[in-house]
Amino acid sequence: MNAKERMAIDRQTCAELSPEIRIDNYDEVSLGFTHESVKIEAMRCLQCKKPGCRQGCPINNDIPGFIALVAEGKFEEAYWKVRETSSLPAICSRVCPHENQCEGSCIRGKKGKPVAIGLIERYMSDWMVHHQKNMNVACAVAKGKKVAIVGSGPAGMTAAYHLAHAGYHCTIYEALPVIGGMLKVGIPPFRLPRHILNAEFAALKDCGVEIVHDVVIGRDITLRQLKTEHDFDAVFVGVGAHSSRKLGVEGEDMAGVRHGVDYLRQVLSGNKVDIGQNVVVVGGGNVAIDCARVALREGSKNVFILYRRTIEEMPASSEEIHHLQEEGVKIEFLAAPVRVVGDNGRMSGIECVRMELGPPDDSGRRRPVEIKDSNFVIDADCVIPAISQNVNHEVDNGQEFELSRWGTYIIDKTTFQTNIEWIFAAGDAVLGPQTVAKAVYQAKEAAESIVRFLEGRDLKEGREVRDLDD
Ligand SMILES: Cc1cc2nc3c(=O)[nH]c(=O)nc-3n(C[C@H](O)[C@H](O)[C@H](O)COP(=O)(O)OP(=O)(O)OC[C@H]3O[C@@H](n4cnc5c(N)ncnc54)[C@H](O)[C@@H]3O)c2cc1C
Repeated sequence: MNAKERMAIDRQTCAELSPEIRIDNYDEVSLGFTHESVKIEAMRCLQCKKPGCRQGCPINNDIPGFIALVAEGKFEEAYWKVRETSSLPAICSRVCPHENQCEGSCIRGKKGKPVAIGLIERYMSDWMVHHQKNMNVACAVAKGKKVAIVGSGPAGMTAAYHLAHAGYHCTIYEALPVIGGMLKVGIPPFRLPRHILNAEFAALKDCGVEIVHDVVIGRDITLRQLKTEHDFDAVFVGVGAHSSRKLGVEGEDMAGVRHGVDYLRQVLSGNKVDIGQNVVVVGGGNVAIDCARVALREGSKNVFILYRRTIEEMPASSEEIHHLQEEGVKIEFLAAPVRVVGDNGRMSGIECVRMELGPPDDSGRRRPVEIKDSNFVIDADCVIPAISQNVNHEVDNGQEFELSRWGTYIIDKTTFQTNIEWIFAAGDAVLGPQTVAKAVYQAKEAAESIVRFLEGRDLKEGREVRDLDD
């Protein structure tokens, strides 16, 4: 098929559950491509010699390569093409912000709609799961040394996978009773179904990865004890960013205020959390949107999002915002909280102020500026601040690592080595709250450094590592 014929194909669409059907359950909203539509969509790819999509992908997946295989119906080969670089294709295909990454850099997007790279990747990964194909590679010969991994999120799991396949036994220490980090206790199943998450994780756990649950490193065992008493030769720290950032307004300590990631962790761990009928979520990113949509599914009726800028500046993906609005969540744009109001320690609403957009700030987005005397109150049973997360420093009791001014762990940008030579770190713990793809990429590179460290080789020689810290 020539380029002109490819250009004539429209972007394929896929079915979704209607809001009425999905609103009281956690079923996946997007139903993905069909066997026919995925191949047609794959034909839209122009197979660029210098593919922008690949540059836009934090993991540097060979996107034209796997799409060409999908177009020929070679789904298994396509899956393994992605696995050359990515440990978690089924997960990334669903949750990556494609519009800012691979699809945002697709040449077809310049004059129309980009190739639906995420949905193509999703189809071929799901095909592997549904056909119960082997998703693991052969185990390496054991080399005798062992590595402790702290945290079982995408960073920890990816590091363990690469190290185990290089012949090093890994033990993952996880504070929670479940593995997966924010993939399990942050991102809800209507965006990331658990059977897909579990299948992809199961494939990473083979070949000498041991998992120890309910152990908090820093509290139950210190990092130094891992080396001196448990005989680990190196440690990888992938503890994420799990402390909700506070609004910093009066009344935030009142009953009824629940911080975003804490709320999601409670609900997604299977607990019934009654937050009342009227809920205000503060923030404009994924966490805020997930909180609002979970609150609806848990029975709240009037759910508002309060966002201090406009829809154009919202960090959440346009698809998520669309789904949120379809489900009946109202967004109060250009409004910011100034005070939680209530009586006797129990909140009854949130006082807000209207904003307008001024000149751009450091992030390039227009700065919200308060409009004087524009205060108003929204009555609410619950307020969920979901404005960002910080790294918590339990793992080293705030004593071992050098920190950036944002409280993230400072690492060497090529090797991911911390100021302690046998400890490496990656993912949200070093980037602050970011994305799964960035955690996967960094953890793979950190694992390469650990292998070199264990083998006494130069950690930097011949390496070009992407700086994803933006
Ligand atoms: C609600 C929500 C929605 C999101 N949506 C998206 C999205 O759509 N797309 C996207 O790309 N990203 C999204 N993210 C961000 C993404 O989940 C993270 O960037 C990613 O999970 C970071 O991976 P990580 O392995 O570094 O950390 P985490 O996934 O946070 O995993 C860290 C693990 O370490 C464990 N741990 C922490 N401290 C200790 C300790 N001292 N001892 C033992 N274990 C410890 C934690 O319990 C956790 O399991 C979202 C995040 C949230 C919260």
